[in-house]
Amino acid sequence: RKGNVIITGASSGLGLATAKALADTGKWHIVMACRNFLKAERAAKSVGIDRENYTVMHLDLASFDSIRQFADTFQRSDRPLDALVCNAAVYLPTAKDPSYTAEGFELSVGTNHLGHFLLSRLLLDDLKKSDYPSKRLIIVGSITGNTNTLAGNVPPKANLGDLRGLAGGLNGLNSSPMIDGGEFDGAKAYKDSKVCNMLTMQEFHRRYHEETGITFASLYPGCIATTGLFREHIPLFRLLFPPFQKYITKGYVSEEESRKKARTVYWSWNKNSSSFENQLSKEASDPEKARKVCEVSEKLVGLA
Ligand code: NDP
Repeated sequence: RKGNVIITGASSGLGLATAKALADTGKWHIVMACRNFLKAERAAKSVGIDRENYTVMHLDLASFDSIRQFADTFQRSDRPLDALVCNAAVYLPTAKDPSYTAEGFELSVGTNHLGHFLLSRLLLDDLKKSDYPSKRLIIVGSITGNTNTLAGNVPPKANLGDLRGLAGGLNGLNSSPMIDGGEFDGAKAYKDSKVCNMLTMQEFHRRYHEETGITFASLYPGCIATTGLFREHIPLFRLLFPPFQKYITKGYVSEEESRKKARTVYWSWNKNSSSFENQLSKEASDPEKARKVCEVSEKLVGLA
């Protein structure tokens, strides 16, 4: 049978490119999880994804109700779930004031982190049940959340601090809209949300990998961030890597060129593959922080 993959935010950019690339292999059915149904349909048509290779399902990650409804609709569809790609994101670097999700969480962390956190948890059992040989949950990270890289050191830097804002609900009323409790900064909120994505995958791996057989990983467009536990080359990454790379650089970057680029930011290559691993920053690989972020998030999304 074909594999079934859910891709959030498949209506544009990386998500759409990935949907197209996976559909073109003939081995995947894509569930495009999108907030704008019509836009998603048009996007699928515009890149020529065959009708039989995709289904659009409504998902607004800025609303827990919508996320629960999506999970329910998917489960009723009786499709097995073999891979979940959490790709959607909002990035509001120029916003002067924070915006909020339906439940009142600052929008970038609310959508990119809390939304995907809830979605992943609701679909974990479905992934667990899959008989696919390589079932996986992938979150698209960002280099900008990683302070041990050049790009990650452009201010404002990601910093989750002691999580006081997150624990307070990021609502801008009785708590700061920022995870570390500081003043609102849209660019930082996005970077923080990406650090949460990376921490979530590490904690999920620790908690659920053995029991479920699911591989958890975060991936950068152009490079793969793993905990080092996923050193072997993973087939889905091989599929995902070229479209990501192509989209990001607006032109295919040869392996040689990428190698050069990689060195300048201290990325290391996985010798026998076209992707490479990256060391995560101290904060993004701190197991204690990963545990705390997940515990606090569980409460916020109503799972604890
Ligand atoms: P786009 O803005 O092109 O795509 C973002 C997608 O997320 C869109 O499909 C958008 O939907 C969707 N989305 C936003 N909010 C919601 C929501 N509330 N519910 C459901 N879907 C939502 O961005 P990219 O393709 O560039 O980004 C994709 C991923 O790659 C992100 O995780 C980003 O952080 C990451 N990334 C991107 C980089 C880049 O340079 N582009 C660099 C590093 C990481 P809609 O079409 O309706 O707006």
